[in-house]
Parts: sequence; C-alpha cells; structure tokens
Amino acid sequence: MIDAARERLLGALDPEQRQVAEALRGPVRVLAGAGTGKTRAITHRIAHGVHSGIYQPTEVLALTFTVRAAGEMRTRLRQLGADGVQARTFHAAALRQLRYFWPHVHGTELPSLTESKLPMVATAAGRLRISTDRTQLRDLASEIEWAKVSNVHPDDYPRIAEARQRSVAGLEPQLVARVLAGYEEVKRGQGRMDMEDVLLFTAGLLADDERVAAQVRRQYKWFVVDEFQDVSPLQYALLDLWLGGRHELCVVGDPAQTIYSFAGARADYLRDFAAKHPGATSIELVRNYRSTPQVVAAANGVLASTRDTVQLRAQRPDGAAVRYAGHPDEVAEATAVAQRIAALHHGGVPLSEIAVLFRINAQSEVYEEALNDAGIAYLVRGGARFFDRPEVREAVTRLRGAARSGVRAAEGDTWVDLVRDVLAGIGWTAEPPSGRGHARDRWESWQALVAQADVFESEASGADSEGPGNSGERFNAFVDDLDRRAADQHAPSGEGVTLATLHAAKGLEWDAVFLVGMQDGTMPFSYAQTDEQIAEERRLLYVGMTRARLELSVTWAAARNPGQAARRAPSRFIESLLPASARPATPSARRKARTCVECGAPLPSGAKGRTRCDDCPAPYDEELFERLRAWRKERASADEVAAFMVFSNATLEQLAELRPTTPAAMLRINGIGKDKLERYGDDVLEVLGGA
Ligand code: ATP
Ligand code: MG
Repeated sequence: MIDAARERLLGALDPEQRQVAEALRGPVRVLAGAGTGKTRAITHRIAHGVHSGIYQPTEVLALTFTVRAAGEMRTRLRQLGADGVQARTFHAAALRQLRYFWPHVHGTELPSLTESKLPMVATAAGRLRISTDRTQLRDLASEIEWAKVSNVHPDDYPRIAEARQRSVAGLEPQLVARVLAGYEEVKRGQGRMDMEDVLLFTAGLLADDERVAAQVRRQYKWFVVDEFQDVSPLQYALLDLWLGGRHELCVVGDPAQTIYSFAGARADYLRDFAAKHPGATSIELVRNYRSTPQVVAAANGVLASTRDTVQLRAQRPDGAAVRYAGHPDEVAEATAVAQRIAALHHGGVPLSEIAVLFRINAQSEVYEEALNDAGIAYLVRGGARFFDRPEVREAVTRLRGAARSGVRAAEGDTWVDLVRDVLAGIGWTAEPPSGRGHARDRWESWQALVAQADVFESEASGADSEGPGNSGERFNAFVDDLDRRAADQHAPSGEGVTLATLHAAKGLEWDAVFLVGMQDGTMPFSYAQTDEQIAEERRLLYVGMTRARLELSVTWAAARNPGQAARRAPSRFIESLLPASARPATPSARRKARTCVECGAPLPSGAKGRTRCDDCPAPYDEELFERLRAWRKERASADEVAAFMVFSNATLEQLAELRPTTPAAMLRINGIGKDKLERYGDDVLEVLGGA
C-alpha cells in the first residue's frame, strides 16, 4: 500500500484507534465506551489489512448482532474501498454455511427455518397437559432460547435453573425442563429448525466433520467481532470452531453496554479475552467523538453509581442542555415530542437524523399516531428486512425493468421524476394515504425509495466529476445501488423519523434522540426484579442516551391515558440528573400549588380554572379557544371518540392563535392533515368565522 493512501486512511483516526488499525495480526481486544470509535477503528483496520495486501477481502469475516448493524458495516467498508469483505450477523453467517454443507453431509434437505416458537411450545405444553396463556407461552419460548444459547441441556436444566433462581411462567423447573424436551421433539417431528438450531447445527457440522471444518477454515482466516460484550456461549463456541485454534481475532466491545444477558449474553468473554488468547494486544479508547459534552455528562451520570462506571471524555463542542420533561399522559407526551420534531425539522434537521426510542414495542403506537397527525414521516424499527417486503421487491423489480429496457425520463423531467412515475404505476402517490395500517405501511416503503433517489441524486451531483454523468446513467447507477443494498439488506433510512426499541438502537447514532416513556416501571421495566436485571436496564438507558449526537430529550408520562390520575414517577435512573424544574411535585404539593403553564409560577389559590398568571397572557384568544373546545367536545361525543382524537389541545391553541380562514392555511397547522381537514375542516372554519 503506498504511503500516501495509507496515511489518508489511518490519518482519520486518533492515536489509539490507529493502534487498533495497525495491529493487523494476532489477537486484539478493544475495550471502550460508547461513541469512542470502536466500529470506526475496526472498519479502518479491515480496510488497512485489505489495502496492504495482508488480508484477502474474501478471507475476512466481520460479525455483528443486528441486521442493521451488519448493513452499516458493509456500507462503511465499501466507502473505505474494502468491497468483498463479508460483514454479517452470527446468524446469517452460520445459515449460509449450513445451507451449503448440510445437504452434502446429511444427504437431506435442511429443515425449514421457523419464525416463531410459540405454536410448537403450545403443542409441547398441551401434550404435558399444562394449560398456558399467551404470556406464559412467550416466557417459555424465551426460556427455551436462553437454555439453548447457554448450552443448557433439558436434563441439566432443573439443577441450573434452581441454582440461578430462574422462574418461568410460575412452573416448577422440572416441568419447564419437560417442556424444553417436548418442544425439541415437536420441532423435529415437523422437520423444522429454529434460530438457535442454525448456530447449533453449524457448530455440530464443524465439530463432527473434519472436512467441513477444514474447508470453512481455509475460507476464513481473519475474524472481527463488534459489540463482543453481547456474545452468547453458543455464539462463542461457534466462533471458537471457526478459529480452530488460530488467534487471528479482533474483538471490540463495551461491558457497560451489555444488554442481552437476559438472553444468555456474557460480557466475561470480553473481559477475560487475554486469558484465552495469550499475547493479545489490548487497547482502550476513551474519547467520545459522537456526542456533545452535555449528552456525555448525562450518560456518565446514569452509570456513576455502578461498577460499570466509565468516564467518557467528550470531544465535541458544547451543545444544548439535555431536556427532561414529565407529561400528564402518554398522548400529551407524544404530542409534545412530535411538535419538537416538527420544530427541529423546520430548523433543518433531516428526519432521518431523528430517532424516538422506547423500552418495548407496544410504546410505538402512540408515537406513530402523533407523528401521523403532525404529518411527519417515520420508519418503525429503522426498516430492518426492508428489502424483503413484498411491495419493496415489486418496486425494485419495476425499477430494474425500466432501467434495463432503457426507459428515459420525459423531456424536462429528471431521473428522480422517472422513479416517481414508475412507482406511481404500482400505487405510490405524492401524498400519503390517510390513516394507519397496511396501505400506509406500503406507501412508507415506496416513499423511502423515492427519498433514497433524492439522496442519491444530491450525492451524485455533489461529488466531483467521477459520478455518473447524464440522467440515464444516474438512473442505472441508482438501480445498481438498490440491488447492492438489497443484497446487503441495507435499508434506506429514508426521509423518516426512526421509531425503535432501545435494544434495536445499539451501535447506531442520530443528531437528535428522544427517549420516551421513561417512567419508573417502564424504565426499569417492571419485570426486572433482581439487582442484576435492574443493572441491565440501567445499561439499556445508557445505550439509549449515548445514541444522540447533538440533542437528547428524556420524557415520561405521569399516567397512561388522558384523564387518569398521575401515578407514575420518572425513572429512578435519572432522578439525580433532573433539574428542579423537571422534578415532579409530591402529590400533596401538586394538589395545593397549581402553577402557570407558561412561567411555572404558583397561581393564586382562588384562580379556579385558570392555567396562567397575569404576567403570561395566552398568545391566543382564550375565548375562541374555549369555543373550539366546546365544539370538539360535542363533535367527539357525536362521533363516539375521545376528544383528543379530534384535535389535541395544542392544535386548538394554534387554531385560536393563527385563525386560518382557508383549508390550505389549516393544513399548515401541526396536527391537521388531509384526513382531519376533510372530516372537520368545514366545522372549524365555521367556528373560527363566527369569531
Ligand atoms: P458504540 O459503542 O455506540 O457502538 P463506537 O465506539 O462503535 O460506538 P463509532 O460508531 O465508531 O463508535 O463512532 C462514533 C462516532 O464518532 C461516529 O460518527 C464516528 O464517525 C465518529 N468518530 C469516531 N472516531 C473519530 C475520529 N477519530 N475523528 C472524528 N470522528 C470520529
Ligand atoms: Mg459501534
């Protein structure tokens, strides 16, 4: 590799990261906090090894834990000129080998991969005459997963479960063990395999068949694992078989981000790496390049009282203070978050640089609704398996067809217009369909492709003369890029806000991150009972906070639904971080002291029904607001829906303030889309007109 190119590559790293990238041979362990450039260091290391001719790209296997992280890694590698390197999840890497070798070794077809354990767990439980509900079945399925990735055989299960005080679905460990064994029997009988079997069978082939092992080891010589703190005993065993006694392994991780021990992950493999690989190069990174000092300080604060304490050192310039806020209920919380997102977007932050992260999937819905009402596009869970969706496949096929047959954009149109035309042929429309559900999901998928075309065009026209020149060539290049992304499962982040669980956000980053529903009982989640479980929840919050580059907001709701009593407190993990203004008042103080919604000053005790003090007049006409509210109440009861589903208070306030007189002007108000305009527009204009 010529020196100038090498300097260009390694010059993008700090001294410790550079040490990682230069340690091309032998075992290497990198132990470092969030956002310190672990992933950056290992991708540069791989590129360095490839460019200097030491690694053949096809001999490198880079492993991660989520489909999205693997996609990111492939993109980063390609940008560094290391095409051809395999970056996969453990699961995907194993499945590929299994598909290839199984028929050779066993002379039979590979059992079919099952998506869900639940039906087979139900059959197994039924055979044992255990009556179970859905929650219990899910708990049993999780326990099966845990036992399998932890290499715990059903015969040993009762002993180990008792020692570790595992309790499942209120069943005796002996009985759980029988469900475990029964489940395997049902599964075998149906000729299926589950996700854990993919790893188990691959490990089995490698352990039992010398020729298979030799062939795989000839293929892969260099191993790299990101997020090594989350490796399970089963994954570790497989990695060991791949290595076959060699030590060409580089692992990076952060014990403070261990968030899968509930599923069997073990951070000890990272901590004790040197014992297993003598002579390992060990490197620590401490500078955080991702986040503002404000975000870093908050994240450090969450771990301050624990043994995971890390002291990240922020490198970025100062940014905004972390925002902490409680809301009366989840609808109010979601509405406020949607409003803040609209403001950020208005101020120039792309929607793809914003994420709303929550503890469990069920929390997503109220955010989907609030964003929908505010007319903001979103992608649930960041679009994993995006290219497997039927509507996306169809769209890509159509686009490829158009490119192959040389279809060109009409006179005066760009190739991006052509993309729109082709997708319009299968149902894409410029405006989203109203409401949620299947039609909306399909539209979001197509819209993500349109947005991706826009991004591609702006990147191509921003690049120097290297990029493809004319419109037709760019269209072809775009379709090629889609094919490559599809092969890589690298979903476009599109022009939408990412809605994801904290677990799914691992390793990723956004300019602005909203951690929502952060009330005690959700964070930590109520299932977490033991100290170890609670510590894992704390680490999960730490992972969430450290996803933010510039702006971090942490919010909670005092009640689930509007009108319910405020019973919930902010997460115990953030209590010590809260500024006085964000601390919830004690219930008795709350009863006594009502405060102004604008400035927070206490209101005089006789001011019944008033929400602001004399110094803070409402920016809108309060009388008009009251009339709109009266109309909303009437309309909501006529339609038999909750009032907030007609319009939120914030929307009514804006209506009273801006007093739109035309449908077009109404559409500019947060919370009013085409749908609502159609339904309530005339009514509202009448109320406003009578003012
Ligand atoms: P996580 O623990 O969340 O997985 P990480 O340690 O893998 O984080 P990266 O994602 O590699 O961190 O890097 C975090 C951010 O900091 C990225 O945007 C990356 O490009 C940037 N970054 C890392 N190192 C440097 C550097 N030396 N100079 C400039 N930017 C850097
Ligand atoms: Mg990383």
